Amino acid sequence: MKIFEGKRFFIYGDGISARAAYRAIAKNGGKAKIYTDRCGLFDTPPDRPYDGAVVSPGIKPTHNVYKFCAERNIRAFGEAEIGFSLAKCRSVGVTGTNGKTTTTRLIADMIGGTACGNIGYPVTAAADKERTALVCELSSFQLYNSVVTPDVAVIVNVAEDHLDWHGSAEEYYRCKCNIAANMAGGFLVIGDDVPIGALGSLRTKAEIIRCSADGAANCGAYVRDGYFWFDGKRVSPVDYLRLQGRHNLKNALCAVAAAKCMGADNDRILMALSSATLSPHRLENAGSALGKRWIDDSKSTNVSSCLAAVEATTGSLCLIVGGRDKGLDYKTLFCALDESRIESVVAMGESAQLIRDGAAKSKCGIRVTVVDGLSDAVKAAAKSAADTVLLSPACASFDEFTDYKARGEKFRAEVKALESK
Ligand code: ADP
Repeated sequence: MKIFEGKRFFIYGDGISARAAYRAIAKNGGKAKIYTDRCGLFDTPPDRPYDGAVVSPGIKPTHNVYKFCAERNIRAFGEAEIGFSLAKCRSVGVTGTNGKTTTTRLIADMIGGTACGNIGYPVTAAADKERTALVCELSSFQLYNSVVTPDVAVIVNVAEDHLDWHGSAEEYYRCKCNIAANMAGGFLVIGDDVPIGALGSLRTKAEIIRCSADGAANCGAYVRDGYFWFDGKRVSPVDYLRLQGRHNLKNALCAVAAAKCMGADNDRILMALSSATLSPHRLENAGSALGKRWIDDSKSTNVSSCLAAVEATTGSLCLIVGGRDKGLDYKTLFCALDESRIESVVAMGESAQLIRDGAAKSKCGIRVTVVDGLSDAVKAAAKSAADTVLLSPACASFDEFTDYKARGEKFRAEVKALESK
């Protein structure tokens, strides 16, 4: 008997994961119908018994669909849960504030599995085909209410993010910890930058493997004497890793630990490290207009990723930040910036004033120029005396763009236009 035989669901949202959930339910014997906010209004599913509601990750917990489900005792969950329940092979789940995509791709290469989930390939679609291993990138939205059961889970790091969606840092942390809440055993890999306070709601039967890029001896995985180590044994020289920046060293260490937990051999890990590439709009060279280096890090949508980008670059910087605010504290950004390297900051978009306020509260001496949008930000940066212009917005892109990719593309086009002047 198919696992959804005789079951009826409604799906809320019509993105790629919603449509994939629809197909997975139908293929496995169930019935489902898709509902969306038509013309901005809550499209109420008919009042009848349901075995569950599959709610898209973009839909906030304050949306009426959750009230609708609570009043009728309908369990709401995400597409990823269906994916895990249909998996025909072992799986790894990867979450964290930053570095999920990079770490997910590395692990998939190291163990010969399929990268899926938040990376843009629904878990249900991957689960239908994959027979070796699934490596699922899981955002806090996906982990909000889904039961996921990976054999190995990874929390790469945790910093403040998405406070507008989750309502509080504690709730955001709870979602991150939920990745390991339903594991029957296996391993949970915890990266360097996971503060103990973020693990308050962690309850798991998995064995915990801590990582240390500083070589801390009490960790299961660490970097020491130029090697990645796991369980007291050398795995690979660090200099095989093709990705730059200390944040990518930490991502790679998590990936090595997860791959070893899955039984990967060292040769395969070494090959993955040496052929790794970053996905677009992550610290990507965008050109060399006006004698400066222009770097596109449009995927950087929080303070922590912005600081990682600054640390990964050298020389004097003009830093372009701003966009749609997610409730983050920009004072912490300015407190952490090295004033001797930051020639200026250009703050753009909806959050520009909040960013300028953050700079003022930090009492740093960094000059902040407020502009409307990205084109004006590029014009302001062109006038700076810095060696490098870094677009690392620390904010979402939706005030001006459909997504971070469109923001990055626009930046690159502006830089190309400057080059040809
Ligand atoms: P995610 O999928 O979690 O968004 P990505 O690998 O796509 O992660 O990287 C997103 C952004 O975060 C990029 O700007 C990247 O430079 C930055 N980043 C990647 N790894 C880390 C890390 N370990 N710590 C801080 N920032 C990171």
